[in-house]
Amino acid sequence: MKTDLLACDGGKPVRAAEFPLWPVFGETEERLLLEALRSGKWGGANRSKLPELEEKIAALHGAKHGITMVNGTLSLTVALKAAGVQPGDEVIMPSYTFIATATSALLFGAIPVFADVEPDTLLLDPERIERLVTPRTKAIVAVHIAGAPADMTRLKAIAVRHGLVLIEDSAQAIGAEWDGKPVGALGDIGSISFQSSKNLTAGEGGMLITNDDKLADAAWSLANVGRVRGGEWYQHERIGWNLRMTEFQAAVLLGQLTRLEEQLRHRERNAELLTQLLEEIEDIGVMRRGLLQTRHAYHLYMFRLAPELADR
Ligand SMILES: *Cc1c(COP(=O)(O)O)cnc(C)c1O
Repeated sequence: MKTDLLACDGGKPVRAAEFPLWPVFGETEERLLLEALRSGKWGGANRSKLPELEEKIAALHGAKHGITMVNGTLSLTVALKAAGVQPGDEVIMPSYTFIATATSALLFGAIPVFADVEPDTLLLDPERIERLVTPRTKAIVAVHIAGAPADMTRLKAIAVRHGLVLIEDSAQAIGAEWDGKPVGALGDIGSISFQSSKNLTAGEGGMLITNDDKLADAAWSLANVGRVRGGEWYQHERIGWNLRMTEFQAAVLLGQLTRLEEQLRHRERNAELLTQLLEEIEDIGVMRRGLLQTRHAYHLYMFRLAPELADR
């Protein structure tokens, strides 16, 4: 089509107005934040916003348990540790992801083993995983990069065949669906991030979701100084961190949650439009969208430039 529209060709800018500010917020967030402030329960036990958030996000992702954390890096570390991954154990993960997927393992001495991604989806290539499995392999971390769901059907089959734990790094994928089901708790345990760039944000924050009672209890304990869920306040039965989220973050996230569905639809609509236009440009390769990727969260819109164009 009109390659003259491309800014790199010196064409007319297609947009002159500034993009709207992110994040979007309003009276709902103000009201919830004030409620949290006036409750005096900013941390500790007996809170209201935090459990409400955990319940709502778990329900949104078809999970029985939601466990909030300080961020999506340490929530991945907790997921690995809760699943029994030890220092020296190997964790297979995609080579293309944010650095935190790998550092979450390295932080306690587990070893990331990289499998390449498919060039036309940028998602973990299931074909490449099995040859990387060794006796030290304990887990696979699938990353739903950009909000595009990875092939959970094939990854699950591989994990089951080799007795590996399947973890979903869903930091960029809140709201995404694989084969009509929300991602995150399709494997054994999944991690979400609420860092400032993410689709649902409180500036910082993270959460684990799972349908496995044992993994949920272990993760809760690791993030709550080794306490036992439902146990005594000073009953510490393992070594854990304090990775708890504050009531203020939970309040903001509850407000943001009321906007999520509309924003997800908006993202899908805009992405579809952009794809239609970009497909007409020879030097641009749009990502392949599989039929089972029933909902893309479009945290990012990815496409590939022909090398000649990228070099200019
Ligand atoms: C953002 C992100 C993380 C880390 O989350 P933080 O909350 O920033 O610690 C992990 N993995 C991926 C793929 C991410 O995009």
